[in-house]
Amino acid sequence: MPMINNSDVLPLYNWMKDKKLIASTMKCEICKNLMKWEPYSKAKDKYTWKCDNNKCKKFKSRITIRRDSFFFNSKLALCTWIHAIILWSRGLSQKHVCETLGVSNHTMVDVFNFFRQICKRYFDQHPIKLGGEQRIIQIDESCFSSKPKYHRGRSPNPIWVFGMVDCSTRPALGYMEIVAKRDAKTLLKIIKKVAKPGSIIHSDQWRAYTNIERELGFEHRTVNHKLNFIDKISGVHTQTIESYWNKSKQMIKKMNGCRREHLENYLWEMMWRERHTNDTFNNFLEAIQQQYIFV
Ligand SMILES: [Zn+2]
Repeated sequence: MPMINNSDVLPLYNWMKDKKLIASTMKCEICKNLMKWEPYSKAKDKYTWKCDNNKCKKFKSRITIRRDSFFFNSKLALCTWIHAIILWSRGLSQKHVCETLGVSNHTMVDVFNFFRQICKRYFDQHPIKLGGEQRIIQIDESCFSSKPKYHRGRSPNPIWVFGMVDCSTRPALGYMEIVAKRDAKTLLKIIKKVAKPGSIIHSDQWRAYTNIERELGFEHRTVNHKLNFIDKISGVHTQTIESYWNKSKQMIKKMNGCRREHLENYLWEMMWRERHTNDTFNNFLEAIQQQYIFV
């Protein structure tokens, strides 16, 4: 990782090429020849790709070094982007990152949304599967209330999230999904999608769960929360998912709450982060590389 320096951006760009964050070669769209990497003080990034083929009708025309990259549509300097990724991967709040980088809150909202998009799309390529032979998965639903959009009144907007945690991992890895309904049809479909064959499902006695064994074939044990938090005979409990909810809600609180339309991406961010607690920065760069492939 080079020093991030606004006056000498070349070491950063070379590093970004190396990390496949921007293209390291570029072909002219017209003549298909390799273009020339060249300093150009009028360009925002101070460098451009230029067609160097004097027989091409695009001879000497320039294109941005951001072509096809994650940063293509942004006006923010590339060094600011990289700096933002570093701070985001350390888990710093949006407000903190704004202040550190001297960027408007408005801009940083977009930047953080881009990061969450990367997290979300990561799971298109790596769908979450939990449990497995004789492994316990705890399931539960929880109500997340979102920040009212225009501070109208105080009534929170209830949003139901269905969650599953794999108790065989430390810390427990989870899956969360916003649900429109908490009925059997909705919840069993998610369990089927996420739980690996052979998993054992633990839950409370919410009626939607009644047919998990019959319809999905998973062994299913319950705890009656009206009587006990831990079933005295079987030892079945849902405390792992309870603490998972607490952790998730605390993170949202730390981010100053979030709007309904953003909650889904916040959940993806949390799921991504809990799977990449080590070397978050490089793992995130890798996720970008996998989603923006240069040919
Ligand atoms: Zn050309």
